Amino acid sequence: MWECALWPGVVPIPSKPLSWQVISVTHLRAEVARRAGERCEYCLIHELEAGFPHQVDHIVSRKHGGESTSDNLAYACVDLQSVLRQ
Ligand SMILES: [Zn+2]
Repeated sequence: MWECALWPGVVPIPSKPLSWQVISVTHLRAEVARRAGERCEYCLIHELEAGFPHQVDHIVSRKHGGESTSDNLAYACVDLQSVLRQ
């Protein structure tokens, strides 16, 4: 089954076409990036300074019931994400 690379566990909704969900995920990522000013919301490094694209991170993880909504998502640099997961 197809699974979203950005949010593991996100699978297509049978009643919605796949393109709808891809557009929704892309839009949500852009919304979070715009809100954060394209800076990591934890250490404030700008995406252009980081050398790698920032990623969208769940504040409350999905396994703890966190939803993939903009108020539960943070724009985060890759380095910080690897630290948070340890
Ligand atoms: Zn950071």
